[in-house]
Amino acid sequence: MEPSIRRLKFSSDNTFHAAVRRRVATHLRETGRRERDCFEMYLKTALIFASFVATYVLLVFVASAWWQAAALGATLGLCVVAIGFNVMHDASHGAYSERPALNRLMVLSLDLVGGSSYFWHWKHVVFHHTFVNVAGYDTDINLAGLGRLTPHHPRASIHRWQHWYVWVLYAVMALKWHLYDDFRLVLTGRIGPHTVAPPRGRDLAIFVGGKVTFWTIAFVVPLLLHPFWVVASVYVLTAAVTGIVLGTVFQLAHCVEHADFPLDHSPGHIDNAWAIHQVETTVDFARASSLATHLLGGLNYQIEHHLFPRLCHVNYRAIAPIVELTCAEFGVRYKHNPTVLAALRSHYRWLRHMGAAPATG
Ligand SMILES: [Zn+2]
Repeated sequence: MEPSIRRLKFSSDNTFHAAVRRRVATHLRETGRRERDCFEMYLKTALIFASFVATYVLLVFVASAWWQAAALGATLGLCVVAIGFNVMHDASHGAYSERPALNRLMVLSLDLVGGSSYFWHWKHVVFHHTFVNVAGYDTDINLAGLGRLTPHHPRASIHRWQHWYVWVLYAVMALKWHLYDDFRLVLTGRIGPHTVAPPRGRDLAIFVGGKVTFWTIAFVVPLLLHPFWVVASVYVLTAAVTGIVLGTVFQLAHCVEHADFPLDHSPGHIDNAWAIHQVETTVDFARASSLATHLLGGLNYQIEHHLFPRLCHVNYRAIAPIVELTCAEFGVRYKHNPTVLAALRSHYRWLRHMGAAPATG
C-alpha cells in the first residue's frame, strides 16, 4: 500500500492567527506562566498513574465479590480515560514538555492502555486537527455509515434512531480499538480516505511492545488468577466505560449545534483561514468548571486547544478570555455551552437533527 494523504489548502490571510498568537504570548510572558513542563501537569500525572496502578492491583489481586470487581472495573475505565485526556493527549501534541524525549515517553501511555501512539498521531494530531469537521478529510466525523454526524454525509433510514443508539457505538469503540482497529491499520494503513505508511523500526517496536504489554496486563495476568468469563466480563465493562466517556467527550466540542461543517467547494480548498476554521468548527463547554477542566484534560476548551495545540492544557482557562475577545474583534464566531450537560444535550439534538428525515412538501 502506497501512502496517500488527502490535503487541504486554507485561505492564506493569517491576520487573526497572528494577532491571537501575539496576545497569548504576551499574556503568558507577563504572567510568568510556563507553556509546558507545568507543575500541575506533573502532579496530575503522578496522581492519575497512582490511581491506575492502585485500581488495577485491587481489581486483579484483591477483589473477591462481583460488585467489587464491577466498581473497580468501571474505575479502571475512568483511569484509562484520565490518562488519555490528561497525559497522552498533551504529550501527543508536544504540549507536555519542552523535551521531545519526555513527550515521546508520556505518549507511550496510550500503547500501555491498549491504543497505538503511532496511529493516534496520524488520526488525531494530523487528520483531525488539520481538517476539523471537513467531510472526506477529518476521520473523527466518520462513523462508518452507522451514524451521521455531518450534513455532508448521506442519510440512511437507520440514522433516525442514532440519538438513541450512538451511545452503544461509543461504548464499543475502545473494545474495537483494542481488538481490531490497530491490527487492521498495521496491515492496511487505511484511515478513512488517507493511507499512511505502516510503522517501521522504532515505531514498529513500540507498536509490538505496546500490544504485548497491554494484552499481558489486560488478559494474561488476570487469566492466571480468575476464570475466563470473569476476566471477559470485567474487560468488557472497563472498555465500555472508557469508550463511552472518550467517544462522548471528543464529540461534545465538534458535533454539536453551532459547530461549522465547511466543505471544500473547490476541491482541496477551504475558503477560511486555518485558525478561523479551527474556531468556527469547535464549541467550548463548561468553561467555568475547574473540575471539568481538570478531569477532561482541558478538552472542554477545544477552541484554545485547536489554536494552541502545543500549549499545556493547564493554561487554557487563562487564555480563553483573550481568545474570545480577539475573535469578537475579528468577527470570528466563538461559541461555548455553559455546562457539560448543556453540551451533552446539544450533541443529542445534533444527532437527532442529522438523523431526521428531511421535511417534504
Ligand atoms: Zn488534540
